[in-house]
Amino acid sequence: MDGRERALDAAHRGAEAFLRTLDTRPVWPRADLDAMLEAFGGPLPDEGLDPTAVVERLMADADPGLVGIPGGRFFGFVIGGTLPAALAADWLVSAWDQNSGSAMLTPATVALERVAGRWMLDLLGLPETASVGFVTGGQLANYACLLVAQRAVLTRAGWPLAERGLRGAPAVRLAVGADRHGSIDRAARFLGIGTDDLVVVASDDQGRMLPDALRAALATDDGPLVVCLQAGEVHTGAFDDLAALIPIAHEHGAWVHVDGAFGLWAGASPRLAHLTAGVGGADSWATDAHKTLNVPYDCGMAIVRDPADSIAAFRTGGDYLVYTGLDPWDVTPELSRRARGVPAWAALRSLGRGGVAALVERLHDNAVAVAEGLRGIGGVEVVNDVDYTQVLFRLRDDAATRALGDAMLVDGTAVVTGSTWRGRTALRCSMSSWATTPDDLERTLGAVRRIVAGMGEAVPARP
Ligand SMILES: *Cc1c(COP(=O)(O)O)cnc(C)c1O
Repeated sequence: MDGRERALDAAHRGAEAFLRTLDTRPVWPRADLDAMLEAFGGPLPDEGLDPTAVVERLMADADPGLVGIPGGRFFGFVIGGTLPAALAADWLVSAWDQNSGSAMLTPATVALERVAGRWMLDLLGLPETASVGFVTGGQLANYACLLVAQRAVLTRAGWPLAERGLRGAPAVRLAVGADRHGSIDRAARFLGIGTDDLVVVASDDQGRMLPDALRAALATDDGPLVVCLQAGEVHTGAFDDLAALIPIAHEHGAWVHVDGAFGLWAGASPRLAHLTAGVGGADSWATDAHKTLNVPYDCGMAIVRDPADSIAAFRTGGDYLVYTGLDPWDVTPELSRRARGVPAWAALRSLGRGGVAALVERLHDNAVAVAEGLRGIGGVEVVNDVDYTQVLFRLRDDAATRALGDAMLVDGTAVVTGSTWRGRTALRCSMSSWATTPDDLERTLGAVRRIVAGMGEAVPARP
């Protein structure tokens, strides 16, 4: 074996060793950032190190600071695991090292991304001619789509954007739900849309935008307008009623964007597709492959109904760039880029249409089962309607809920993360991993039962 082979072999063995510990290691890391800085820091040594020794050092020193994200009992935030085919494909992406901005330069990886994009449009019920730009995640997908939207509504209003830019342009108003994801506000900030131009529309107890409130909010609007809807609220998993809301927004001439980072995938399941009914009527969509589809980080999709709108926003100048139709650099803000869509192709190909539906349904089944189990533990209240993959729960008071969340991390059996919902502390349990088994659910519920009992929170379960 030469140096390269030895290093790759060490990484392969190390990766396998890590993945094999997932069932038994504490899900939350045992070492904190300071310990990790201590392990890796210090001045850069003058002398180099053999590649295999570098890999071995990485594996040994990083281990205590690694989170069990790819295992079956990580339920924090909204974070998927990694399907085997996607992980292996991701390794190939690095080995191939294809700079995948242009079809002329890298036909294999551009074709794989284009096919993965088409498959996703079909699965999710989106228009087959839409452009799909593979970006790093939902944040960048929201940003890219809202950038396209901002340009499109200004151009349609007759504003000479190419020459004048935003100097003196009419304000673009952005209507958003009260329970939008924080990445929408961040994208607005990137785009120079201030809070004065955010139109915040009221939502119901699950976080769904109220159609009457949208109608009322838009009644006085006459300038360029973008309406941002949501498929999958991070606490409750609730979906805006897209079939009702999209037509209201379009009546007011708005561009409609849907943030469906994990929720858009409901459309891939015949059993859950009612949640995204009407989604195909929007103008742009943001979603992730690294959540529900379970590909490794980082992989999100910025999807735009009319590719001409993405091209207007993103196509690059420069004589040395040869155009061959719809290149990745035409539909994303990036130029040089990793072929991050290839693991998505591999995940889709390994699952097939039926496998994607089964995966999404299993995540929903797991959420229902955990909610049921939690309801049976005295003192635990499930706060949301478990229509999709999210379970929101709490104890009788905020301090006890926080203490339960902290104790879960120390216990290490499973990870759930905290938040605030309607003014009260709650814990979020997100079913996003293909790796979660019935045994993982039992172990997780067992940990909650044990900790709650130890806290003296236990009261008789509801009959
Ligand atoms: C996760 C999430 C995002 C952000 O996606 P990243 O992949 O973390 O960048 C945006 N919107 C919603 C609803 C999300 O759940």
